[in-house]
Order: sequence, then C-alpha cells, then structure tokens
Amino acid sequence: MYFVTKRLEISAAHSLSLSYESKCSRLHGHNWVITVCCMSRELNVDGMVCDFTAIKEMIHGYLDHGNLNELLPFNPTAENIARWIVDRVPQCYKACVRESEGNEAVYIDEEKAGVWLRLTE
Ligand SMILES: [Zn+2]
Repeated sequence: MYFVTKRLEISAAHSLSLSYESKCSRLHGHNWVITVCCMSRELNVDGMVCDFTAIKEMIHGYLDHGNLNELLPFNPTAENIARWIVDRVPQCYKACVRESEGNEAVYIDEEKAGVWLRLTE
C-alpha cells in the first residue's frame, strides 16, 4: 500500500446550529488545518497515489476565505467537514480537521480504510 498526506490551511467562517446555548452559534472564523490522508494499492500512470495539487484545488480552492454555512449543505462542525473531505476525494480514507490548537476531529471511512485496518490488526 502507498500512503500520502496533504496538509492544507484554510481561513473560513462558520456558525453552528446547536441544540444548546453556545458562542459557537455566532458567526466566527478559524484558520483550519486540514490533513487529507490518501492511500492506494497501485500507483497511477504518473507514479502517484494522487496529485497533491488536485487535492488542494478540491478542498482549499472551494473553502478558503468562504462562509462554510453557505458552501456546505450541512451543519459545518469539524466532524462533518472531515467526513465531507473523505467523501469528496476519491483516494482519501481519513481526514483530520483542526479548528484550533487542541480541537481536532478525525473521520475514517471504514470501507475505504478496510485493507489498512486489517493490516494493523
Ligand atoms: Zn468554530
């Protein structure tokens, strides 16, 4: 298996729709640090798992300097954003979304990561 990770920094705003009182319900911004983890059993014709620039365009190009509530069709929590990245990037099996120092969400697609998870059992 081949593994690559791409790290991105995105400046974006969001407000959260929550079932409890929270300052996070007010519009605010983060400098998000996002790690996109990809894997493939085979390399493509160019000798890559996937093109780092293509990942940047798919995620950074779409979200940077945006309002995540307008760009994404769900409540833009770090968890939901991590899942959206895994679903959007074909070779991505895991995404880490850090909204601030100490606050990070990770989503792993169990099906995409299946081979890797079995290797580490
Ligand atoms: Zn926030």
